Amino acid sequence: PHGRVFNFSAGPAVLPVEVLEQAQADLLNWRGSGMSVMEMSHRGKEFQSIIDAAEADLRALLAIPDNYTVLFMQGGASTQFSAIPLNLAGEGDTVDYIVTGSWSKKAAGEAKKYCKVNVAATGDNKSVPDPATWNLSADAKYVHYCDNETIQGVEFKGPPAVGDKLLIADMSSNFCSKPVDVSKYGLIYAGAQKNIGPAGVTIVIIRTDLMGNARPITPTMLDYAVQAGDQSMYNTPPCWSIYMCGLVFAKMRADGGLPAVQAANEKKAKVLYDTIASSNGFYSSPVDPAVRSLMNVPFTIPSSADLEKEFIGQAAKRSMIQLKGHRSVGGMRASIYNSMPLEGTQQLADFMREFAAQHA
Ligand code: PMP
Repeated sequence: PHGRVFNFSAGPAVLPVEVLEQAQADLLNWRGSGMSVMEMSHRGKEFQSIIDAAEADLRALLAIPDNYTVLFMQGGASTQFSAIPLNLAGEGDTVDYIVTGSWSKKAAGEAKKYCKVNVAATGDNKSVPDPATWNLSADAKYVHYCDNETIQGVEFKGPPAVGDKLLIADMSSNFCSKPVDVSKYGLIYAGAQKNIGPAGVTIVIIRTDLMGNARPITPTMLDYAVQAGDQSMYNTPPCWSIYMCGLVFAKMRADGGLPAVQAANEKKAKVLYDTIASSNGFYSSPVDPAVRSLMNVPFTIPSSADLEKEFIGQAAKRSMIQLKGHRSVGGMRASIYNSMPLEGTQQLADFMREFAAQHA
């Protein structure tokens, strides 16, 4: 319907049709306000009700404990790479980073500008080194890791055991894709544009007692205590993006919450991983089965890079787009975030079988 494609982009990514339709219906006149959400003052009661509902629904979805603060920030997850060390560590302090792919590597690189970074473990981009072997520093202010490496398709299946260390997770590409025990974390952050909305807003969930220690040079916009004090409205927030995330959160709650989302995601991922496994080696998944991502499924055609190109081109002609792997790793990648329907993965699997039969 609507001439829409199956969009396998890693982000910005597919959103639920019902949410887009709701946004369309609200566009000219949001609930009798006489204006769109893009036009209303962030200081008015209308927008206040939108951001309050978005936060309440997110809190309900993730069962966020009362001693955590939810912030709606800007600058993408990349800006958090700086905000985290600036707020949580001094210049001479040590912080631990676990590198399991491109994004955690970038996060560690940025943190080096602000404090002493100990890369406590480095993966091979296909697996996660056993947490028991991580070389954690005795005095690290926190341990940072990326819960789902979007490019490599490597996903943790639960919070890593780091004892009493403060755990920080980049959940940009698997945020709200499954239930998470927030109490295990000091801070969780995620850009919106994969699972929950359009680009422009970044969610930060922080244990409240950790705020208030930002270095004096921290840009005011990045100071968690300032943002919390102003209820994420120190300056003009990305109102439209927050509104869209709110619509997605409300729909997720109505659809059964995160257990239902996880069940659907497991089913979709299984369709693709099973198709790869039963292709007699025509397709290959580079990732350790124990940590294969439910969100980003990289795969290759080991026999021929030309066939990979052909595959991507033919898929696009059948309205399955954005299947090219990240330029740094090549091959294919199907991103199947929450809003990708099961039907999309089934259609892709059918095409994979057909293509393999033609070219094997
Ligand atoms: N972390 C992860 C895991 C990501 O996938 C991305 C975006 N692809 C980022 C961080 C950077 O996000 P942003 O573009 O919002 O800065």
